[in-house]
Amino acid sequence: MTLTQPIVVESGLQNLSESQEARETRSPNQELLPLTAKVNGDELEIGGCKVTDLVKDFGSPLYILDEETLRATSSQYRKAFKRYYPGESQVLYASKAWSCLAVCAIAADEKLGIDVVSSGEIKTALQAGVNPDKIYFHGNNKSREEIQLAVKSGCTIVADNWWDLENLAKLALAGVSHKAGEPTRVMVRFTPGIECHTHDYIKTGQIDSKFGFDPNSLKEVFTFLSKQPSLSCVGLHAHIGSQIFELQPHHDLADVIVEAFTEAIRHGLKPTEINIGGGLGIRYTESDDPPSIDDWAKTVCGAMVAACNKKKLPLPKLLCEPGRSLVGTACVTAYTVGSKKVIPGIRTYLSVDGGMSDNPRPITYQSVYRVLAANKMSEPLTEKVTVAGKHCESGDILIKDAQLPECQAGDILVVPATGAYNYSMASNYNRVPRPAAVLVSNGKVETIVERETVEDLLKFDRLPERLAGQK
Ligand SMILES: *Cc1c(COP(=O)(O)O)cnc(C)c1O
Repeated sequence: MTLTQPIVVESGLQNLSESQEARETRSPNQELLPLTAKVNGDELEIGGCKVTDLVKDFGSPLYILDEETLRATSSQYRKAFKRYYPGESQVLYASKAWSCLAVCAIAADEKLGIDVVSSGEIKTALQAGVNPDKIYFHGNNKSREEIQLAVKSGCTIVADNWWDLENLAKLALAGVSHKAGEPTRVMVRFTPGIECHTHDYIKTGQIDSKFGFDPNSLKEVFTFLSKQPSLSCVGLHAHIGSQIFELQPHHDLADVIVEAFTEAIRHGLKPTEINIGGGLGIRYTESDDPPSIDDWAKTVCGAMVAACNKKKLPLPKLLCEPGRSLVGTACVTAYTVGSKKVIPGIRTYLSVDGGMSDNPRPITYQSVYRVLAANKMSEPLTEKVTVAGKHCESGDILIKDAQLPECQAGDILVVPATGAYNYSMASNYNRVPRPAAVLVSNGKVETIVERETVEDLLKFDRLPERLAGQK
């Protein structure tokens, strides 16, 4: 068998006999494809299922989530924190990356907590069976109703600003709590003033950020909290950004956050937890070279131990909240090719049946993706094409200048690394229903999100009677 698609060689797909144990030593965030991806003749298989069969049975576009990869990332995070941090630790899944029942349930089954940013994400986590003890509620503009839901459910509130603290104090005055007489657990998020190299839209650590308290206001925050018996300040939180490949910012973060932690203690508070956020990057293309989950955990745990030792502080419970690196490379999107437009000497456009509505990252962040032909895995890469979405927007291009075998209508293309910020950011632009998602594992397949229909969309429309039946 000749393996011609570079992505195939890159992904180690040629090793067909690799055992599950061997697979699990790989760090999925460093892989382009899910761990179980295999080439079988001309066909790409994921989780023991042929991609072309999945498209036949479930249609396209289709999100295909590999359970083994999601479980591997979850357990690698958890085990690495156990290995490198002598104190207590808890890994949370930042569910905004992909909030749905199945993903939350798998994360919870792997003993992860969940971090949420809206009542929709809270209710999804609760319905997936996540223990509210392990749900942390974030957001820079939580509504009163959302805070009330989170408090009553027993979630920890990550206070982002004074609006949150005022609402929490008001709710406490009104007697709203999880259990009568039990204070609400509150963490304080602040901007640590740490810059990292990533897209401007996903930087969060710099002082000029909409997220978290300004570090100069922390003393005031701690004074306020020390006078609120119904609010228990359980710790501090900071998150520096997303799709980060550097490790140094995490060292700097440990010192800054431990300093703020000791300040909270000086104010008479009794914090016990530190959450250092998420942000580890993943591999979208061969040129992306993120650290492994193990190296990331080793760095953040080591930095925290060192920072605490410097301050002679007993080790707090250490939390982290990865999103992208947990679910990103566990999923691929399959599309069916339709029209092919050849502009001689200029470019060939290969259009697929999805695009910016199911993957808004290229048009939003200029993100670069790879693509492969799932039914032509052993054919030579003879064509350079631009894979375009079906939406009325010239910027709706999924992949520029992709090397593919010669493709035409009916061929199945697969875009890897679409687990994070794809379904969760999907839209109905051009009145396109959102795709279905399936979970694959050991040759079995289950629907985890039904395909939306146009009827679903029309359900929310109302036609004023005076306009009905007009000609
Ligand atoms: C988005 C976000 C995360 C997760 O970031 P990833 O880059 O997906 O790991 C974690 N914490 C907070 C507060 C976030 O906003």
